[in-house]
Amino acid sequence: MILVKGSQRSLFLDEVDGYEIDVDGEGDPVELAIKRTATFKRNRKIFICSTPTVKDLSRIERAYMRSDQRRYHVPCPICGVLAPILWHNIEWPEGQPEQAALRCESCQALIPEHHKTAMLEHGVWVAQAEGDGVTAGYHLSALYSPLGWYAWGEMARDFLNAKHEGPEKLKTWINTCLGETWEESGEVVNQDILFARREHYPAVVPLPVLVLTAGVDVQDDRLEVEVCGWRTGEESWGINYRVLWGDPAAAPVWRQLDDLLASTWEREDGLNMRIVHCCIDSAGHRTEAVYRYVKPRQVRGVYATIGRAGAGRPIISSASNRKQGRTTLPVKLFTVGVDEAKGILYARLKEQAPGPGYCHFPEGEGYDEAYFKQLTAEKRVIRYQKGFPKAEWIKTRARNEALDCRVQAHAALCLLNPLWVAVEKRLAPRLPFPEQAIVEPVPSGHPFGLAAESSGSGTRRVKARDPYLERWRR
Ligand SMILES: [Zn+2]
Repeated sequence: MILVKGSQRSLFLDEVDGYEIDVDGEGDPVELAIKRTATFKRNRKIFICSTPTVKDLSRIERAYMRSDQRRYHVPCPICGVLAPILWHNIEWPEGQPEQAALRCESCQALIPEHHKTAMLEHGVWVAQAEGDGVTAGYHLSALYSPLGWYAWGEMARDFLNAKHEGPEKLKTWINTCLGETWEESGEVVNQDILFARREHYPAVVPLPVLVLTAGVDVQDDRLEVEVCGWRTGEESWGINYRVLWGDPAAAPVWRQLDDLLASTWEREDGLNMRIVHCCIDSAGHRTEAVYRYVKPRQVRGVYATIGRAGAGRPIISSASNRKQGRTTLPVKLFTVGVDEAKGILYARLKEQAPGPGYCHFPEGEGYDEAYFKQLTAEKRVIRYQKGFPKAEWIKTRARNEALDCRVQAHAALCLLNPLWVAVEKRLAPRLPFPEQAIVEPVPSGHPFGLAAESSGSGTRRVKARDPYLERWRR
């Protein structure tokens, strides 16, 4: 970088993320250059431009965050809705990156790249923040390259190669192609890692599980449900994830949910477990239908919830009563602190070894690649409001139902608030000595309403000693 002596009215600084922090002990080169324009404070123009680098260290990111954060919105050729072209909306058939196309978030149409020229012609810059009132910020990625320069398909292929070659290459790709800063590893949960570490369960419900809960996400045409197993320390096991098709405004899909909630799930040692608590997210277009379903089932542990953002809000708060229908019996509506729940879940997803908080996932049972994409579909970002940093959860993908289901299943566990010591005593297989594999049957009619049915002779054979339990008892 060359600094011209004397004062200037117009200043152009290119690739500022590459500048040194300090020039010859004189300080920040950007600040130094800007000082030279001080004489023309009222009519100066400063142009700062760069490919961004690392998050929180990037000069251009800081400058952009101060600005009104404009992004170029282009119209969808199908529905006409204006939206920025974002990488997470680019899709291609597996193994065919050259077929990459853009998914419209509004109408879900898949837009082939040949529409790009017309879309770019009719686009507009849209400010996404108030900013400081004097800085105009513009963000463009390679996704906006004119037709024939750098195609979405080439970009997708380069992405796959970079991903294959490791984090350093991926960082370069993210910086130069997306024009985004790189988050150092550990800050985001990687769906591929979670998918790769799925386990083979020896039974539908692995042995350490003590309690089953369910979480339900309500969409306009379906319910998505996760059954989740828990033990002491809130170590969790994904048991089953499924989509029940049907409009929740009508009864059939709810009957499917009834069947699912009434089923028993066999644990490795033969114990038939039932879902103890279930939380259903009532936000959205089908609130009345959720209330109608939940009302007669609250006595059986099925509850309606409403999610609320905000730091420090507990995962589950005491219920408020909602009227439903003509009867006086209210629906209890529980508030779920979604920011807190997601923060805890994402921290747990980064846990490396089984133990308290660790999340297990099975091979099959609905835990496919799409599941993990949805589970990791959000991230926490720091946004500054009037100069103060504020953490906020934002979607990085259009679909996040799996994440919502897990939050609901966790809320159901928090509602149950089990006294783990007591549950362990009643439901854990008892193994005083490793060689003594025959255990007494678990008594039925325990406080959590799980049906304990003995298998065959009334004794149950246990395959292995449970190291976790041993650790816990020490
Ligand atoms: Zn559209």
